[in-house]
Amino acid sequence: MKRYDCVVIGGGPAGMTAALYLLRAGVNMAWVEKLSPGGQTLLTETIDNYPGFPKGIKGYELADLFAAHLNEYSFDKYMDQVGTFEPEPGKHRIKVGDDWLEAKTVIVATGSEYRKLGVEREQELTGRGVSYCALCDGNFYRDKVVAVVGGGNSALEEALYLTKIVKKLYLIHRRKEFRGMMCYQDKCFADPKITMVLESTVDAILGDKEVSGLRLRNVTTDETREIDVDGLFVFVGFKPQATFLPAELNMDEAGYVITDTEMHTNIEGVYAAGDARSKLCRQVVTAVGDGATAAHAASVYLDKL
Ligand SMILES: Cc1cc2nc3c(=O)[nH]c(=O)nc-3n(C[C@H](O)[C@H](O)[C@H](O)COP(=O)(O)OP(=O)(O)OC[C@H]3O[C@@H](n4cnc5c(N)ncnc54)[C@H](O)[C@@H]3O)c2cc1C
Repeated sequence: MKRYDCVVIGGGPAGMTAALYLLRAGVNMAWVEKLSPGGQTLLTETIDNYPGFPKGIKGYELADLFAAHLNEYSFDKYMDQVGTFEPEPGKHRIKVGDDWLEAKTVIVATGSEYRKLGVEREQELTGRGVSYCALCDGNFYRDKVVAVVGGGNSALEEALYLTKIVKKLYLIHRRKEFRGMMCYQDKCFADPKITMVLESTVDAILGDKEVSGLRLRNVTTDETREIDVDGLFVFVGFKPQATFLPAELNMDEAGYVITDTEMHTNIEGVYAAGDARSKLCRQVVTAVGDGATAAHAASVYLDKL
């Protein structure tokens, strides 16, 4: 079993920042990421609210810059999934693939992932017309008709991205008003390719082997109607990637990890940072702040030990 002073779980903005701060503090650490460095920044075309990039920056470019900064240092990387985390102050144990690691401190920065719509056949038609990533799949729908479901920033941002590709886009939201930022709402309402379908839900996904349409239900009148679409993009919120976390860790009712302002959890030597944490604003800028704070708090704790 390899032993470290700190193991950082997650390679999104929070985890990469935590790792950077730990390395600069000279902490013997390892970093674990199950996919690619960058986390959710790899799922969006442009991040246009990260300070220092007045014209915005492509999500993958920001991820590459974070990774390049980290790669200035040498450290142990595990490109695999953490399946089990057994906490024990002073020697927390983490199973990465088939290997066990032991660490005096652990920073959980595992972010969040898309919620499913919860409609019948959604799973079966995922990859056959149902998608959760406009950047990954948008190009399959060039000059076609798609629907986007959701009312928050992601739905509006991704709808605007898709209008550069598709012929027509239905923006479906169950409420009368959107939750997303006004700057995105204004652009969506002004976009001639977008047809708003408000106060409506998706009742059924239609199509045999691939999506060919949707049955929509108006939530006030209960009337249903069918529309023809080639694709359905679902952006109805997020849920934490927390299934491996120990039952002793305090979480809120949605499953996000509860911390204090210095990112300590209720378990000694365990910290959480970024979208995995119970908090108000889930953005790159808050994730990197959490990552830096968690790393500093872990360093202070290690010094005391
Ligand atoms: C479509 C979209 C558009 C967005 N647009 C913006 C924007 O314009 N501006 C902005 O500031 N923010 C935006 N965000 C939000 C922003 O990307 C997130 O807030 C940020 O990435 C959170 O960083 P994080 O490091 O906490 O988590 P994540 O980015 O989710 O990274 C978590 C990482 O942990 C890894 N992981 C999870 N579980 C495990 C495990 N068990 N073992 C190993 N690794 C694991 C994941 O693979 C992932 O790489 C957007 C998000 C999306 C999806």
